[in-house]
Amino acid sequence: MNKELIKEASGKLLEKNNIVVLTGSGISAESGIPTFRGENGLWLKYSPEKYGTVTGLIGEFLKSPKKVLEFALNLIEVFNNAMPNQGHLSLACLEKDYGKNVTIITQNIDDLHEVGGNSNVVKVHGDLYTLRCTKCNYRKKIDREYLKNYAAKLENAMEGSLLSLIKKGKELLPVCPKCGGIMRPDVVFFGEALPQKELAKTFITIDAADVMIIVGTSGEVYPANTFPYRAKENGALLIEVNPQRTIFSETADYFLEGNAGDILPELIPPIKENISE
Ligand code: NAD
Ligand code: ZN
Repeated sequence: MNKELIKEASGKLLEKNNIVVLTGSGISAESGIPTFRGENGLWLKYSPEKYGTVTGLIGEFLKSPKKVLEFALNLIEVFNNAMPNQGHLSLACLEKDYGKNVTIITQNIDDLHEVGGNSNVVKVHGDLYTLRCTKCNYRKKIDREYLKNYAAKLENAMEGSLLSLIKKGKELLPVCPKCGGIMRPDVVFFGEALPQKELAKTFITIDAADVMIIVGTSGEVYPANTFPYRAKENGALLIEVNPQRTIFSETADYFLEGNAGDILPELIPPIKENISE
């Protein structure tokens, strides 16, 4: 860790007020949620064509329903057990203790920024803790308790025969309280469009930003991989935090090499510690 460089970046960062943070799966890695392409990545175990699209999932369910339920249970367990790490907590400190105007633009579907304490989180790839009606688009916020109970329901269903499981398929899906339609997780599956409202908010925020911190994103996913260049063109300072160089590292004013949980508490030193110094 290059402490001198982090200190210099920290000084510049803390002079600014409008701060936008672009995060990817890397920020949640230390909380136990595997990154997209990393060693324990979900998509190495389950193919994205089959498990990352709605039609793929339906097709797989008809072929091997238990494997699809196992996938869902695995996902719920990993996300539901994760707690914010020092990286998330430092970003919350930037808002709560330093009083900065912070917007988090995240590609993550987990709830760790919100649980960590940031109040302004824009989820450009959707949210695992929101259900959306496939018929009327009604959105319903759910919580970890809801997903825990839902997992228990799936586990129960796993005990039946394959045929009964396929027959029951639809009954396992949540129903819309407004119109009776089937509800799905409000996440952006492969090939789906990004939510327009979130995108519009993203652009407005980036255009007003004095600084963008990029944490834990490889920059391989469009259009989030264009956001740092837009910020830079608008004159924002770019600070990148990642254990590995990415396509942004050349453009960044500061590339801070290391894990989010180690670098962010140095970049955003806890205020109480400052006072006692
Ligand atoms: P990615 O897997 O393509 O890249 C992850 C990046 O994080 C890499 O550059 C890696 O070097 C870096 N990284 C790894 N450990 C880190 C750490 N401890 N601290 C900081 N950085 C670290 O992920 P992406 O760019 O976010 O794109 C993947 C897509 O998958 C996103 O669209 C996201 O929606 C989805 N996804 C979300 C979650 C989640 O919600 N937590 C998890 C997996 C995938
Ligand atoms: Zn509905």
